[in-house]
Amino acid sequence: APGSAQPSSGAGGAPESEGPGRDTALLRHLLLKLRATGPVTVAEYMREALTNPGQGYYTRRGGIGESGDFITSPEITQVFGELIGIWFVSEWIAMGKPKAFQLVELGPGRGTLTDDMLRVFYQLASLLSKCDVSIHLVEVSPKLSEIQALRLTGGKVQSNSEDNSAYMKGVSKTGIPISWYRDIRDVPPGYSFYLAHEFFDALPIHKFQRTEKGWREVLVDIDPQVPDQLRFVLSPSRTPATEIFIQPEETRDHVEVCPEAGVIIQRLASRIEEDGGAALVADYGHDGTKTDTFRGFRDHKLHDVLTAPGTADLTADVDFSYLRKMAQGRTATLGPVKQREFLKNMGIDVRLQVLLQNSHDTATHKQLLHSYDMLMNPERMGDCFNFFALLPHQRLVHPDTKHKQESKSPLPPVAGFSELLMK
Ligand code: SAH
Repeated sequence: APGSAQPSSGAGGAPESEGPGRDTALLRHLLLKLRATGPVTVAEYMREALTNPGQGYYTRRGGIGESGDFITSPEITQVFGELIGIWFVSEWIAMGKPKAFQLVELGPGRGTLTDDMLRVFYQLASLLSKCDVSIHLVEVSPKLSEIQALRLTGGKVQSNSEDNSAYMKGVSKTGIPISWYRDIRDVPPGYSFYLAHEFFDALPIHKFQRTEKGWREVLVDIDPQVPDQLRFVLSPSRTPATEIFIQPEETRDHVEVCPEAGVIIQRLASRIEEDGGAALVADYGHDGTKTDTFRGFRDHKLHDVLTAPGTADLTADVDFSYLRKMAQGRTATLGPVKQREFLKNMGIDVRLQVLLQNSHDTATHKQLLHSYDMLMNPERMGDCFNFFALLPHQRLVHPDTKHKQESKSPLPPVAGFSELLMK
């Protein structure tokens, strides 16, 4: 981790005040809180560990990339962001080329995905020249927003703590305005494309366990046997969350629910219903079938979720069946489809061939083939990552089939979920 340059003293060494040691400032804060007011939900623990304003993982570390704690697809190859940029342009065309759109990214990390998409928009300038494009980034981490600003604008940004919507503004290297917000509710209304890549898995989950006495919520408490160590306990009785989130027909014995993801999906769906646009969600996840997926990553290795909070990324699989349920009615949904299927439909093979033909050294060739394998191989990211979309109903079904309109032309298929039609 950058910042804490203390040499590691090896196993059993004195606890360090920050970074690699077990005893972190955030752990001390949590111990005080637990001693004073008793156990907290896993959601509250996860929220503190990731986004505590002073000590959260994303707030002060956010180690995405090869030198960090975990690697994401946009950090592996530019092709990923380019194909996603093409997805939005293709939807923009399918929806009749509206005069303006906002591209809203939730949790943009190092800004790599946006940067790659902006390059596509720039290359398609003749197509987009009459369209008023703006970028809106929703990011809670001051540290990552700084990295994004540097990447996208070269660091030329104005901070504005007075403005209670956008806390920072700038212009991309290609001349497109960019604004930063802490909350999706602060993004101005208007025709928008939303993107969330590895965002929903970072939102806090509640965990529930079936017992002989019925459902109990999993809580985090102090371990009475080991000083300064946390442990999981079960709530002594049903909690309010148990009543709300466990369906009577549930068959699993262990369930994770992310209410915050549900709230954000509802917001996206009503914005799309009111102002038009689409949302693309990409993440690892399941369709309401998995049980215990809560885990931590530090330095590209699995890390115990209760050890040294604030120093590791904590994550849980996204339940796409829950997202679909939260959107339904307001918008149509597509997917989830596997990443390798989505990227194949978007033309990743053609793109790879072009890049291979244009590069002449073996090192680049190797690198291109390696990154393709990372994204597409079912054993790597190809199968566990999924794409899921929210679209206005009229994008999939003609609004009034009653008044047989002159245009009986079928609606163009949605790229990625079926093959991209090159024109
Ligand atoms: N999309 C990027 C980064 C994924 S990491 C990529 O694929 O590489 C998760 C991102 O979400 C980080 O930028 C993190 O700071 C941000 N984040 C986490 N919780 C958030 C919240 N509640 N609101 C807004 N952003 C959040």
